Amino acid sequence: MNDSVTNTKPSSLPEGNSVDVIKDSISHHLKYSQAKSPRTATLMDHYNSIAFAVRDRLVEKWIDTQNRYFTKDPKRIYYLSMEYLVGRALSNYLVNLDFKKEVCRAIEKLGLDLENIEQSDIEAGLGNGGLGRLAACFMDSMATLGIPAAGYGMRYEYGIFYQKIIDGFQVETADNWLRKGYPWELPRPDYLYPIRFYGRVQHTSDKEGYGICHWVDSHDDVMAMAYDVPIPGYHNQTVNNLRLWSARSTREFDLDSFNEGDYVQAVSRKHESETLSKVLYPNDSNMQGKELRLKQEYFFVSASLQDILRRYKRNHSTFESFPKKVAIQLNDTHPALAIPELMRLLMDREHRPWEEAWEIAVKTFAYTNHTVLPEALEKWSVDLMQRVLPRHLEIIYQINQNFLNRVQVQHPGNNAMLEKVSIVEEQPVKSIRMSNLAIIGSHTVNGVAALHSDILKNRVFPEFNKLFPNRFTNITNGITQRLWLKSCNPALSDLLNDTIGDGWVTDLNQMQKLKKFADDEEFQKRWRDVKMSNKKRLAGYIREDRALRMEINPHHLFDVQVKRIHEYKRQLLCLLHAIVLYNRFKENPNCDHVPRTVMFAGKAAPGYDVAKLIIKLITSVADKVNHDVQTADKLRVVFIPNYSVNKAEGIIPGADLSEQISTAGMEASGTGNMKLALNGALTIGTLDGANIEIKNEVGDDNIFIFGLTSGQVDEVKTRGYNPREYYEKNHELRRALDMVRDGYFSPDHPHLFQPIIDSLLVKDRFMVLADFASYIEKQKEVEALFLSPKEWTRKSILNAASMGPFSSDRAIRQYCQKIWDVHPLPK
Ligand SMILES: *Cc1c(COP(=O)(O)O)cnc(C)c1O
Repeated sequence: MNDSVTNTKPSSLPEGNSVDVIKDSISHHLKYSQAKSPRTATLMDHYNSIAFAVRDRLVEKWIDTQNRYFTKDPKRIYYLSMEYLVGRALSNYLVNLDFKKEVCRAIEKLGLDLENIEQSDIEAGLGNGGLGRLAACFMDSMATLGIPAAGYGMRYEYGIFYQKIIDGFQVETADNWLRKGYPWELPRPDYLYPIRFYGRVQHTSDKEGYGICHWVDSHDDVMAMAYDVPIPGYHNQTVNNLRLWSARSTREFDLDSFNEGDYVQAVSRKHESETLSKVLYPNDSNMQGKELRLKQEYFFVSASLQDILRRYKRNHSTFESFPKKVAIQLNDTHPALAIPELMRLLMDREHRPWEEAWEIAVKTFAYTNHTVLPEALEKWSVDLMQRVLPRHLEIIYQINQNFLNRVQVQHPGNNAMLEKVSIVEEQPVKSIRMSNLAIIGSHTVNGVAALHSDILKNRVFPEFNKLFPNRFTNITNGITQRLWLKSCNPALSDLLNDTIGDGWVTDLNQMQKLKKFADDEEFQKRWRDVKMSNKKRLAGYIREDRALRMEINPHHLFDVQVKRIHEYKRQLLCLLHAIVLYNRFKENPNCDHVPRTVMFAGKAAPGYDVAKLIIKLITSVADKVNHDVQTADKLRVVFIPNYSVNKAEGIIPGADLSEQISTAGMEASGTGNMKLALNGALTIGTLDGANIEIKNEVGDDNIFIFGLTSGQVDEVKTRGYNPREYYEKNHELRRALDMVRDGYFSPDHPHLFQPIIDSLLVKDRFMVLADFASYIEKQKEVEALFLSPKEWTRKSILNAASMGPFSSDRAIRQYCQKIWDVHPLPK
């Protein structure tokens, strides 16, 4: 054999990561992947060429990682989530790969503008908010820690809608993110699984008399096709896989159906079945009960489980060691149908008996609960489930029967308990409670912050906690510092690297080393300079934003509430404070309030009318306040449209004050709170979710806590909450609400905001008025502190320095130890 031939690589393969090699690789792709010359290339052609050149450099590690997993056969974790909010692709890859500088230099050397390229970067918005972003942070941490993991998700053709503000109202437009192709995904047309719907179940028995089930007469079947997205760890050898499912017509693979005669109709029907993965449901903390959504959920879990079983069977001939090789995490109940689906596959396809299948299921699954709001807990009507998934309903009934039998033995005669823990709810509509299914079918259930896990155990599922005393646990959420500090805040990252080294990028506890600089005046000044540069950058975005075109003053206190718009998150509380400040400035132009810019951003679910009206109220108040010459230099209100990961990356580093003001007991964890504190914002917040743990880390003196505790919220509720009392008692509150009610902010439509007034004054589960006075008082303390820059800066430093525990690396380590029993498999 001729060595010189075997060692010669074709010119298209990457041979290194030097600037010139990367530059050649980009040029190569422009020519051979895009079929363009530099003369005819569009910005998108250049973007794609860069993407392919970067992707090439991932491929070897990607294949190598997957081969390692195959040959070493470690236990793997499969993370099942209907949502991944990954954010911009190129910028993300460049953080984790250790040749970012080279790529940027290569781009410059090609005469391209890096900023233009970054603007063409594609944001995959395959999620609503915190839950989807958590899944993305977890994928990053698992790869960085070298955990044998794979994510499964949905390749929605339309991700979370694009929010425009027209006349102050939210208008949703489609997010056609795949329009120009997505160079980071690899279609896998060979990984294709049939997914069935409808039909009925036929029971027969085999020669030995064992019962056999056949799901027959299914129709509207579809195929699930895999698309793979690489997930590289930070500066390491691991590249994990995120596999997203897309619906394909079975007709494409089934020639018979084209022989029906009506060829054209057959082809057009093909398109109908592909609507299954068309669109992400844009509801956050709310469930709608639509048939298409149920089908999406089943499609997702069936494809994922068929794939997991296929992979397991390559290495194993029995299912004995399945739970020793496979851990499956259910991100909320959205994928909880995986439990009956695994049962079905093991029994009906693999012919395993019920008992064995059930033991395997419980040892394999674990479930993360994300909310206690009743409207967010998934329930499917039995009628719908019977029609769409007849076999699964049968299995769920059997799971329930077996479980209730056991409960009756342990707690004879306790019908109240039976009613609570049953998977089947009888009233008002006979339904399947997905949370009960998920709890019964999992070995571990976790909440996402200490308070939330406590509420799960003691208030929402106390009966389950009694029946399964060791099943419930807590793992507080976290965020990846690679995105939420290193990438989004380069100025602060540089300062940190200069001061404490760069160990914090993979070990956030090293931020502690900052504590000894908290009082160092020299360091404080540099810290303030960084914040000011980020505030100027944010002011620049607001100036350039076509919808805003507003000049804001970076010397203002930047007061930031960015998150989904929801009554429980209480954007109204923050807005009422802005109205109070406005009135004070109007009444007494010489009053000594700190000049402030209050910034909101967030999407409202398209069917959530009150939330959409809250946006209109924010923009209306903004209109009034910002155009009032008496107040415009002291108070601004800004609504930044289309909140997304990319917007968050721009806003968060520039924030002074982080608003985390949900009704205590209602925000399961929050992660926005962590991102903001990590970037040096001080928190004003209630004792809710992870705010409590943030307070414990930063210390009571370094955070602004106000309002009722979750215990007090419950007490007031039991006693009877009377919002009118607060309204009558507090004249500033009354004045602000009367202005909203009487059309001060909507002179052309004086009754526009009546539904908001009603939501606050008639019943209000979220008790906005109950916390108003204490919030307003706390905001005074905020101002007083802001007037002492040294004190403010000291606390800002101490906040960032205390965020170690809120890294998603810590969260993932805990999942590995407490739930998955999965270990790193470094190269
Ligand atoms: C972090 C994040 C959220 C979650 O914010 P919370 O304040 O925890 O509700 C929502 N959307 C985006 C784009 C995020 O980055």
